[in-house]
Amino acid sequence: MRKTIIEPFKIRVTEPLVQLTRQKRESVLEEAHYNLFLVRSEHVTFDFLTDSGTTAMSAAQWAAMMVSDESYAGSRSFHRFREKVTSITGYPHVIPTHQGRAAEKLLFGILLKPGMKVPSNNHFDTTRANIEYMGAQAVDLVIPEGKVPELEHPFKGNIDLERLESFCKEFKDKIPLGMLTITNNTGGGQPVSLENIRDAARIYHRYGIPFILDACRFAENAWFIKTREPARDRDPIRNIVREIFDLADGCMMSAKKDGLVNIGGFIALKHETWVQDLRNQLILTEGFPTYGGLAARDLEALTVGLDEVLEEDYLRYRIATSHYMGRRLIELGIPIVRPVGGHAIYIDAAKFLPQIPKSEFPGQALAVELYLQDGIRSCEIGSVMFKEAAPMELVRLAFPRRVYTQSHFDYILEGFEELRARAASLRGFRITEAPPFLRHFTAKFAKL
Ligand SMILES: *Cc1c(COP(=O)(O)O)cnc(C)c1O
Repeated sequence: MRKTIIEPFKIRVTEPLVQLTRQKRESVLEEAHYNLFLVRSEHVTFDFLTDSGTTAMSAAQWAAMMVSDESYAGSRSFHRFREKVTSITGYPHVIPTHQGRAAEKLLFGILLKPGMKVPSNNHFDTTRANIEYMGAQAVDLVIPEGKVPELEHPFKGNIDLERLESFCKEFKDKIPLGMLTITNNTGGGQPVSLENIRDAARIYHRYGIPFILDACRFAENAWFIKTREPARDRDPIRNIVREIFDLADGCMMSAKKDGLVNIGGFIALKHETWVQDLRNQLILTEGFPTYGGLAARDLEALTVGLDEVLEEDYLRYRIATSHYMGRRLIELGIPIVRPVGGHAIYIDAAKFLPQIPKSEFPGQALAVELYLQDGIRSCEIGSVMFKEAAPMELVRLAFPRRVYTQSHFDYILEGFEELRARAASLRGFRITEAPPFLRHFTAKFAKL
């Protein structure tokens, strides 16, 4: 086998890569008050803000969009989409939504009442917010290893089965559904093992609790199972995926991740019980059940994307990209959260910039410097985002699917080498203006 894993595509449509001078970037930052959310994308060279909705679509996806059926009801595109989801998951009931959080809002809207509880490994922030909005409680039960950044573990996204068992025993009448997030986004894109999914399903079902997957990165998670779980490497990826979905009663999906599209989502269910209520709500807020807040062309792109994401060449390349970046950063002595997950790298800014105290936002300082030096847009996940509650001072580089190439990564890695030499000279920031909630989106900063 060759060592080099290549991009499994040729590029036919290109976008220019913006390259500004450092001087220009300085003035852009000043204008944006050193908040990268306030920088225009046309001033960003490498946009690693998120992997959500930033996929480059294939020629086959664009072609499928051209032959969509935009009928209000009963569209051919919907039926193709439904059949694709059913063939992958085995779930017969498919409800399209405009993105993941719309699926959450719908399902929690019909299931949750104040005082109820929903366990998971870790809830993603929109999932948690939608649970709390209904007056219920989102409970994270990830294994203890999942909370230690420098600890290596093949399935750091696993749920703690003992805690899950006692939680279900104690609160079973208050738990209308149990969840698992695959891969565990909040925990750094860490996978959940098939064994853990099976054991969690057994516990949920023993207490009569329906088990719903947050399946945003189901294909990446299945690839980790194939490559890390004993005796799985010969199993076709589709079989592993099917085994995962067979264990649950349904899933919610943000197709902006492993759907390989720029917008879309769905709920898919094994049983009919909730379907009528969901469709009634869907009509109120998203649209008719055969388009659910999307254009039929979006459904067509998603139908093709769901096949492409399960190509093994694609998944091998996809996981190789984040792991290549991670391995090289470790070689450079840049502290990152380990092991590297599926869709992103998390740099430990507190460790990389020990001269900057938490109160002066080491993550923000690093994010600003990455932009100044190379036009990289990253995301601070630390004291700016979570205030005093921040467990760590991280900077996330999330990788859009099929957008950047290895030479982009090599260029960025050279930049990290330069940055490492100057790291001790970086200074912190102070906040000059911030709203009371979700302040990272709009806060203004000044250099110290
Ligand atoms: C992105 C995401 C969501 C929410 O999906 P949107 O499409 O952004 O609304 C929910 N759960 C997980 C794990 C996610 O990564």
